[in-house]
Amino acid sequence: MRAGERLKSGLKLAARGLIAGRPWPRAGCSLILTYHSVGARAHEMNVTPAAFAEQMVWLAGVLPVVPLTEAFARAECVAITFDDGFRDNYTEAAPVLARLGLPATVFVVTERLGAWLDRDERVPESRLMSWDEVSELSAAGWAIGGHTLSHPMLSRLSAAEQRREIAGCKAQIETRIGRRVEAFAYPFGSALDYTDVTRAIVRESGYVFAVSNRYGVNAPAEDRWALRRVWIDRTDTLESFRAKVEGRLDRLAWFDHALGIRARRFMNQLLRAG
Ligand SMILES: [Zn+2]
Repeated sequence: MRAGERLKSGLKLAARGLIAGRPWPRAGCSLILTYHSVGARAHEMNVTPAAFAEQMVWLAGVLPVVPLTEAFARAECVAITFDDGFRDNYTEAAPVLARLGLPATVFVVTERLGAWLDRDERVPESRLMSWDEVSELSAAGWAIGGHTLSHPMLSRLSAAEQRREIAGCKAQIETRIGRRVEAFAYPFGSALDYTDVTRAIVRESGYVFAVSNRYGVNAPAEDRWALRRVWIDRTDTLESFRAKVEGRLDRLAWFDHALGIRARRFMNQLLRAG
């Protein structure tokens, strides 16, 4: 066996051990899942509709699925969130959740709705919802959260620019859907993508709490202006999804930056390779 193959099979064995290991102690913690698109988008953050349905059916049987507003105030539960407002959340994810009676929150980028998040990705599979579709989800019980006007890296903006993005987004959603917006999600969401100034502006703008994309679960005393979430992406199998939900990958929580995300994806790919 070549050295490269030996290393790969050793890593695979370690990944298997981790995924089959004991859950990390999590008493009193709540879990928030992050999805992006649920469709045919050619992006690593995409989850296929079939995988999503399989994950939701399993999830509904093991944990109470609660609205996000309850998740940070309550233990032993899970909330489902979607970032960016992809149209397939409306066409693919919403019917699955409705069938199972599960609540969800979508964080929308208000000035991109009805168009695309990224100029380089102007294909039908990457389209964002229209305002009518957002309103329909809201009427069906989804919570609509703020995710800025244009998805900038907030930590790079002046305080005035951040305020415009954060408060402006909230005002636009409230005007369109006629409901109070309580939740905010930091674009990109790693600890490098927002600052103390950002957090203060989110609070002053009238949001009640904010979520990041730092990996992990939330203890009852967790900072409500940067709640942790667990990412699900296209490399996840049902096995790795279960491991994430059940806490077997919480050991990786300290890896809550780009390197950790890459490490988790690499592990999923090793396991998927058989
Ligand atoms: Zn985003």
